[in-house]
Amino acid sequence: MNSDKQWKYLNQDLQKYIKENNLYSLGGTYYEMAEFLKSEGKDDSKLRDLGYKMKAKAVNEHLTNYKNLDVSNLEIITTENSCPVCKKLNSKTFSLKEVLSSSPLPVRECSFFCGCRCVYGPAV
Ligand SMILES: [Zn+2]
Repeated sequence: MNSDKQWKYLNQDLQKYIKENNLYSLGGTYYEMAEFLKSEGKDDSKLRDLGYKMKAKAVNEHLTNYKNLDVSNLEIITTENSCPVCKKLNSKTFSLKEVLSSSPLPVRECSFFCGCRCVYGPAV
């Protein structure tokens, strides 16, 4: 795919996720756009930051649900192909208080092309 087309498709995704208010996927798309700029030797920091911020908002919405459910301890769940930084967090548990004060997720240093995909699950 040529790069103009690729950029166009990424923008279409962006519009779609904005309409759907899908912050998680919106964040992922910003990360993909950042990767694209990086591959062209351009500054990717703004889009990378936007990706992080959108994913952080999505994580916070998720945390509000746990708060409402009275879940007090959370465990970080990574994926099979998570990056090495994220993998180090696999199965680590935190109290909801700790999570709210230190925000371990999303992982800012994540090197996966669409950003951190780690999630919190209730720790039992
Ligand atoms: Zn990662």
